[in-house]
Amino acid sequence: MKCLVCGKAIDLEGAESKTGETAHGAKEIDPSKGTRQFHDGDWYYFDTLNCRSKFTISPQRYLTPKA
Ligand SMILES: [Zn+2]
Repeated sequence: MKCLVCGKAIDLEGAESKTGETAHGAKEIDPSKGTRQFHDGDWYYFDTLNCRSKFTISPQRYLTPKA
């Protein structure tokens, strides 16, 4: 899996672990946190929060079919 924004390979385990718990150990349920984003029925993964932020601002820019 690659980052939709910059095209770098994503460490999927890392992306999910960052959303698994908060810094205080509480379960993380806010989809706006971490390096993945729930959008239009699917989870999208990013290598960094910076890339995720870009996607959040204008998801259509990155979801445009390449066909
Ligand atoms: Zn990226």
